[in-house]
Amino acid sequence: MDCRHHIFCHRHTQPRRRRITRAVRIGIGHDTHRLGPALPLKLGGVDIAHSHGLVGHSDADVLLHAVTDALLGAAALGDIGEMFPDNAPENRNRDSADMLRRALERVKAGGWRVVNVDCIVFAQLPKLSPYKDAIRRHIGELLEVPADCVGVKAKTGEHVGPVGRQEAMMAECVALIEKVDD
Ligand code: MG
Repeated sequence: MDCRHHIFCHRHTQPRRRRITRAVRIGIGHDTHRLGPALPLKLGGVDIAHSHGLVGHSDADVLLHAVTDALLGAAALGDIGEMFPDNAPENRNRDSADMLRRALERVKAGGWRVVNVDCIVFAQLPKLSPYKDAIRRHIGELLEVPADCVGVKAKTGEHVGPVGRQEAMMAECVALIEKVDD
């Protein structure tokens, strides 16, 4: 007799609990860069047409820096500044996509893979809607996940604060990683 139909079967009078065997970790990243005139602007590795660009030791891609820190944070591997000191000559004008790839290699070496990321770019101008899909695709390629695992949102600074006055751009990212099954 199938014990599921037996009223006294203790095993099936208890609610069934699904055991979660998959190990997951979450990480957060945040970054700020100042804006300067007549500089190239890159966000998420995508060239953006704008009168101003971001100032930094590397290529100053504020979004990729936030993604990199979220990944490193999820795996408890420190932060982007420890991996790529901003006073090291080899990091001058460094491609932030390369920094993210190297951080991902460290995360993968620990036995993790990316599940998804969700990001916010804080910029008063320019409007980022025309670039969002390209940014999602590019970050997805860098993280080795489909573009539908990459959320990119844009917020203005409502004309107040350093973002609203167009003195700076900021970015935030959360990343979820999971342990790769052996
Ligand atoms: Mg930075």
